[in-house]
Amino acid sequence: MKATFATGAPGQQPYSEMETQRNNLAAAEHPPAPCSLKEAMAAIQRLCEPLVAERVPLETALGRVLRESVCAPEDIPACDRSTRDGYAILQHDPAQVFQVVDTLYAADWKPRQLKPGEAVRVATGAALPCAGLRVVMQENVATQDGSFRIVTPETALNRRQRGEDVPAGGLLVPLGTRLNAGKLALLATVGCVQPRVNPRLCVVHLTTGDEVVPPEQTPLPGQIRDSNSILIRSLLQPWPCDIFQTHLPEDFALAKTACEKLSAEFARADMVLISGGASVGEKDFTSQLLTRLGFTIHFSQVNLRPGKPLIFGTQGRRVAFGLPGNPLSHFVCFHFAVAIALARLAGEAPPQFWRGRLAAPLTAALCPRETLWPARREGAGLLPLPWSSSGDVTCFAAANALLRVPANTPPLPAGTEVDFLPADFQLPSILT
Ligand code: AMP
Ligand code: MG
Repeated sequence: MKATFATGAPGQQPYSEMETQRNNLAAAEHPPAPCSLKEAMAAIQRLCEPLVAERVPLETALGRVLRESVCAPEDIPACDRSTRDGYAILQHDPAQVFQVVDTLYAADWKPRQLKPGEAVRVATGAALPCAGLRVVMQENVATQDGSFRIVTPETALNRRQRGEDVPAGGLLVPLGTRLNAGKLALLATVGCVQPRVNPRLCVVHLTTGDEVVPPEQTPLPGQIRDSNSILIRSLLQPWPCDIFQTHLPEDFALAKTACEKLSAEFARADMVLISGGASVGEKDFTSQLLTRLGFTIHFSQVNLRPGKPLIFGTQGRRVAFGLPGNPLSHFVCFHFAVAIALARLAGEAPPQFWRGRLAAPLTAALCPRETLWPARREGAGLLPLPWSSSGDVTCFAAANALLRVPANTPPLPAGTEVDFLPADFQLPSILT
């Protein structure tokens, strides 16, 4: 893949500094109309496409999304098997005394038709020699010289029947499923050792803002610690991905030079995330930078609280977001926007709103903007968390859901049914 920074979109000339400044001022004076939350989510869903799938060994497939449906190549189990150590006899054999005619261990395969009064000693897991047998537990018989009597009658058949788990051709794991440990074990069971899955994603995440210092550094007056880098890195964890993170200077010319040196990283990137500089201030160059990187910007504002200055762009199958710098805005924008894009790139169903009930009143002041309100989902109830601005840094540490509060909603009593987005990695495909 060729580097995209220096050339921008095909046929497009690089921006000059003056053009950039003019654009910033023009944008500040005439900001494009913000789209609604619904429009933003729909646009991301529509414009993001699944990446080209690849076949990988099971060992590297955890968390990937299956890009083919896998069906049972044969009955599972493939034959009747004993679930006990004991004696296999005909299911309706009226005999009182049974002759042991053979012994079968788990690895044995010795088909034979049993006759009335005959029994085969079987170990747990052993393939039964013919259909229509039951297994008497060894604890329930009295043996003598190669024969036995049943001393404690049982009703259980103590066998797994051929095809009882899934018949041949039955659907095992559907296309679009995120592979967890159990599903990988199922694929191994049927010999699907190179499943077709989405590729590992490559994400470039750039922070901006001269006030931002690494978290291990003591901030001087006016400085703040970078919390967005670890937030983004952690939120990306459910999607197997390679993440490259670095900080950009808050000067467009210097930022461009820094990006030119990152052409190899950009060339590999399926997704570019830029934290901060997404608004319309003089130093907010995220939109221009993404354009120079070759992305077509589809929207740059969402009529939402928090998270209004959100930029979304695409270039072919590659996706970019400019995220408002405040950590709570990051958290919110990740869950309603970035997570949709990630799900689409990976080829799984994007996260959707669920329905739930407020466990406590929501006494929010009327807001003319739709709000995604941080909340804690405990059991069946949703507890709205207190927050006052997108600069709040404590509430999202407790949040595991975002309540969708329409514009101009009056205070809501406890018990009100509301839409919410899960915000604790519990995307539907991880749950199932
Ligand atoms: P911006 O979107 O660039 O206007 O940034 C808005 C605010 O977000 C800034 O004033 C910072 O307080 C905060 N901020 C920006 N970047 C970060 C970061 N990496 N970590 C924590 N806070 C940040
Ligand atoms: Mg900034």
